[in-house]
Amino acid sequence: MEERCSWCGAAVEEGAGFRAAEPEGDRRAVFCRLEHVVPWVIRGAHWEAGSFLTDDDPDDGLGRCARCGGALGPRRVLLVRHRGEHRIADAFCGVDDLLAWAKAGGRWAAT
Ligand SMILES: [Zn+2]
Ligand SMILES: [Zn+2]
Repeated sequence: MEERCSWCGAAVEEGAGFRAAEPEGDRRAVFCRLEHVVPWVIRGAHWEAGSFLTDDDPDDGLGRCARCGGALGPRRVLLVRHRGEHRIADAFCGVDDLLAWAKAGGRWAAT
């Protein structure tokens, strides 16, 4: 199924791009690339209804925020990178930390 970037509207194919989810709110977003998370959050994070998570999926990543290391609460957000058959998930305590993480270049940021 073809999806479109929640920020720029570009087509995002299965096996590419990023999927974000707020499990408690049953909301989701799609991004063609990580950089588009940043303006999307700044402009108010307009989620779409529905989730891409199935009941079998863990909805809290590693159980800690990838940005601050804090516990994940009901406002937690999952970001899953699709890379071919691989799914690389990070979890955040909220969209603010997702924003900070994306701004910094995500998982591959030079520290
Ligand atoms: Zn985009
Ligand atoms: Zn955090």
